[in-house]
Amino acid sequence: MNFPRLPEGFDLDPLRPRVLRHNAEAREVWDSYKADRPIRVPVHFAAARTLYHELHGLDWRGYYEDPDEMIRLQLETEKYKRELPLGDHPLAEAPDAWEVRVDFHPIATAASLGCPVMFRPDAVPAHQSLNRGLQECLEMEWPDWLESALMPRHAVFIDQFDQRCVTEGLRFMGKPVNRVKPTIPSTGGGIFSTALDLRGEEIMADMYEFPEEVHVLLERIAEWRIGLERTWTLRDGMAYPLDHPGKGEIEITDHGIDMLSVDTYETFIGSLISRLAAKYRQAPSTFLHHCGKGTHLLPAIMKRCKFDRLHALTWPLNDIGRIRRELGQHVWITAVIADTIYQGGPEATRAAVKEFLTPEVMGSGRICIWVAGEAAGIPVASYKAVYEAVKEFGRYR
Ligand SMILES: [Zn+2]
Repeated sequence: MNFPRLPEGFDLDPLRPRVLRHNAEAREVWDSYKADRPIRVPVHFAAARTLYHELHGLDWRGYYEDPDEMIRLQLETEKYKRELPLGDHPLAEAPDAWEVRVDFHPIATAASLGCPVMFRPDAVPAHQSLNRGLQECLEMEWPDWLESALMPRHAVFIDQFDQRCVTEGLRFMGKPVNRVKPTIPSTGGGIFSTALDLRGEEIMADMYEFPEEVHVLLERIAEWRIGLERTWTLRDGMAYPLDHPGKGEIEITDHGIDMLSVDTYETFIGSLISRLAAKYRQAPSTFLHHCGKGTHLLPAIMKRCKFDRLHALTWPLNDIGRIRRELGQHVWITAVIADTIYQGGPEATRAAVKEFLTPEVMGSGRICIWVAGEAAGIPVASYKAVYEAVKEFGRYR
């Protein structure tokens, strides 16, 4: 069967002066940021996918059921992004190669554990917790990494991606299309997130009543997740970093941890990270994605893991000025301004960006803004307003 027809070029003239100016500035902004001599705060625009789906009234179901449709939509979205002057990415320019990925984010792991998945017509899929009893969690049989729930579909998609990209040599606007490897099923969080998927929030009461059992469960979850990553990395013909001392890192990102006190976090999660690090002879990761409101945990995590990149730190849920004071100016922060602010329209957005970009938050650099675009229904005018306001209030020189 032929691959669906793809556009042959951008709907935007790459030689228009406006486009040339935009691209020159975007490049300079990222280059100077990376060189640690920033001219202004960079804006990473990641909302094109949501906007594209809204524009075309797309149902996500097709995306999750048809590998060709998954490839087509990823390429179309990437093209569309490169036509939207809403962030510091190049306009009307194709990359040297396009990247596509098998993407059952964020539900692949939860689904294989048996969590009920909701495929919704207007949003990414979601899953429910199983709310199993603690004993049930301890006695459960751990699902097969290749055969449970969505996993066979994950494999079918990978093979179809390779058929298109490798065997048939799919190209888009004259450039090759590559599948990102290894393609590991989205684990959508961390060890504690998985505990919440299995046991629900009762796990936090268990931590007080049955600490020994919780330690056992968390360790089993950690090893199952490592097994999952190993299985799919090897399936892609690659070496699994944790099997080679010093070549990998122990993941420290975990959704839901902001509900824990510093003590509880350290006792159950922090100590487990240290044990895994010792067992696999790897250092903890220095990259922490944290989209919750765990300001109180960050100094303890830093002490243990010495992270230097903090990703998706959401404002105003977190006081980013305080975090800079407590952690030091050396940490690279990717900040997110809450979706609820963008939903308030362009004026509210502009005012919020102005309020956000204090001298303390801007520091002497190492901060950028990530426009995540997870929520539907945000007006394009708000996205325009963020970018314009950062250009106005986010300059260093
Ligand atoms: Zn997150």
